[in-house]
Amino acid sequence: MHERSLVAGLLDQIVREIAPRDPRRVQAVTLEIGEFAGVEPLLLASAFEELAPTVLSPEVRLDWRTVPLRACCESCVQEFSVSQFRFVCPACGASRVRVVAGEELLLVSVELTATEPRITKAIA
Ligand SMILES: [Zn+2]
Repeated sequence: MHERSLVAGLLDQIVREIAPRDPRRVQAVTLEIGEFAGVEPLLLASAFEELAPTVLSPEVRLDWRTVPLRACCESCVQEFSVSQFRFVCPACGASRVRVVAGEELLLVSVELTATEPRITKAIA
């Protein structure tokens, strides 16, 4: 399953780059999933639920928002949202367009639990 290996790669990245000292403190992960990223959010979420608690906090939560597909016209530089995969500029009708958003799978943020409370010593 494609989503499973994406999640495995994501967890790997979090452990290596973001929380190498204590990945168990990671309690929330936020992703941006492009409409055209080739990822099924619900499958991704279920793979996350299965794999993430073994590496991150057992209560770790996944949040995501989907990013609509947007393109930019190469002739008139108009940016527009693409619906039903019609890659045609609504302003000038050109079909030479470039996708500018909606193909990405981005790790937006990772939330860690607070560190151990600091012990303050009474002076008086
Ligand atoms: Zn145009």
